Amino acid sequence: MTKRIAIVGTGPMGIYSLQQLLRSGDRIAVTLFEKGPRAGIGMPYSPDSANKAMLANIASIEIPPVVTTYLEWLGTQPEKKLIGYGLDPQGLHDRQFTPRLLLGEYFRDQLLSLVAQARQCGHRIEIHENALVDDIQCDADALTVTTEGGFEGRFDKVILATGHQFPDEDEASRSYFPSPWSGLIEAAIPAAHVGIMGTSLSSIDAAMAVANQHGSFRREGDDLYFDLDSPDLKITLMSRSGLLPEADFYCPIPYQPLSVLTEQAVTACTEGEAPLDDLFELIRAELKQADPAYALRIGLGGLNADSFADAYFAEREASDPFRWARKNLIEVERNKAARITVAWRYALLRMHEVVEEIVPDLSDRDRERFDDGLKKVFVDNYAAVPSESIRRILALRDAGVLSIMALGQDYDMTRQDDQTLITVGKQTHRFPVFIDARGQKPLGSNDIPFPTLRQALQQTGHELPEVAEDYSLIDTPGYAGRIAFGSIPYLMHDRPFVQGITACAEIASSIARGITTGRKRRRVS
Ligand SMILES: Cc1cc2nc3c(=O)[nH]c(=O)nc-3n(C[C@H](O)[C@H](O)[C@H](O)COP(=O)(O)OP(=O)(O)OC[C@H]3O[C@@H](n4cnc5c(N)ncnc54)[C@H](O)[C@@H]3O)c2cc1C
Repeated sequence: MTKRIAIVGTGPMGIYSLQQLLRSGDRIAVTLFEKGPRAGIGMPYSPDSANKAMLANIASIEIPPVVTTYLEWLGTQPEKKLIGYGLDPQGLHDRQFTPRLLLGEYFRDQLLSLVAQARQCGHRIEIHENALVDDIQCDADALTVTTEGGFEGRFDKVILATGHQFPDEDEASRSYFPSPWSGLIEAAIPAAHVGIMGTSLSSIDAAMAVANQHGSFRREGDDLYFDLDSPDLKITLMSRSGLLPEADFYCPIPYQPLSVLTEQAVTACTEGEAPLDDLFELIRAELKQADPAYALRIGLGGLNADSFADAYFAEREASDPFRWARKNLIEVERNKAARITVAWRYALLRMHEVVEEIVPDLSDRDRERFDDGLKKVFVDNYAAVPSESIRRILALRDAGVLSIMALGQDYDMTRQDDQTLITVGKQTHRFPVFIDARGQKPLGSNDIPFPTLRQALQQTGHELPEVAEDYSLIDTPGYAGRIAFGSIPYLMHDRPFVQGITACAEIASSIARGITTGRKRRRVS
């Protein structure tokens, strides 16, 4: 019998899930639900959350193709459109960072092509747009998916690909935005002192959304300037460390294999008495082998799982963040032009995915140590941002608009009706506009937006949905084995590096394998 499958959410996770289901060769009937008006775009790439200036930090070479590669698709786009997005139609290449909106258009086009191909092969595929799924109920025969608009459908399997879950727009006010995606893109922000909590790519995006309302960027040769129209605009980015991300660096793709920190070696760590410390020994050995000069420079031989992060960040923390950013930008641009790979950076980048495997097996104490130390290093390394984002930061700084504040471990944040106060030591900073841009938080069973499923999960007593290796729900009467959990915020607790398009494609592949072969293996959470 043809399996009836529902996919809730049509961002990258939903699209790759459909792609992988189709690859199995089984005849399938899939219904895709998208709460937005146009399926296939995904939250970060939609006009509700991004404007033309906001860049994706993934290049074509890294994006798993859906039907065609992103670069091939770019090559088919009208020149005028590419120019409108700031791209040179003659200069397209597979390591280029493009506006997020353009990437959203790619994913939508790819979904539509994929669906057309699938229908030609005899699969039954339906797309419901403006269809917010509001509950998923179960009985002995099927799962019933209902939408806000009154649709009701019965399915054998449901894939949850609902993606990011940020606070609602109605929690935002004129002076406080609980995330950059809660109405900031459309809001008119006054030329005032704007505080932004966070210094990552999302915070840079938030700064751009505000700055572009009061001035414009101007390019002269390789240099970027910001012409400010409203002298009253000041933007302060803040975080505990006050560090800016570094610029994305050149490295060989696909990744070359690691020498020491292999999957087998990491798995073996979980069998010992001190998994985190054993893991650090592997990290140390891999780094020493990859880049002995770097190992010597930071005194790697004398470090441990708890002190490595401090040594990694020490030089940067001691430096002015803008001066560091300028120096780092010159270095990465020179390396890109000459195709030079900085060995220690590349080693850390390749290590983070293997290291993630051990996280669910760490004790609470080791998990705390990991979060306070090694995790920060890996996140800093893989969350490097496009060079252009650093150029913009520097242009805003040179125009006297942008500053950075290091809050340290001890600070107070007080929200008032018309301002937000940040107190560090004896000093209080007042922000008439404040944006919390700290990114997606891990979510648990209580946050699930489908009431009947949420209740079933709460009754299991688990704070997090428990899933098997194919992401199918376990231990939840009526739903176990029928729901695949691809909604990122619910996976983040045990997979702290899970965000990103490549992770979506990998998870989708496991989900599709689970649905088409019915094979369930060890738990991932
Ligand atoms: C601002 C931002 C920028 C990012 N940039 C990058 C980047 O450049 N590169 C990268 O690799 N990763 C990036 N990421 C990480 C991001 O996690 C992935 O790129 C990707 O968007 C995840 O895909 P997804 O399908 O899981 O979720 P989403 O893209 O969030 O898509 C989920 C979809 O489900 C729909 N939906 C949700 N609930 C329902 C419901 N109840 N009923 C029906 N439909 C529903 C939503 O409307 C949405 O279309 C970024 C994340 C953010 C927040």
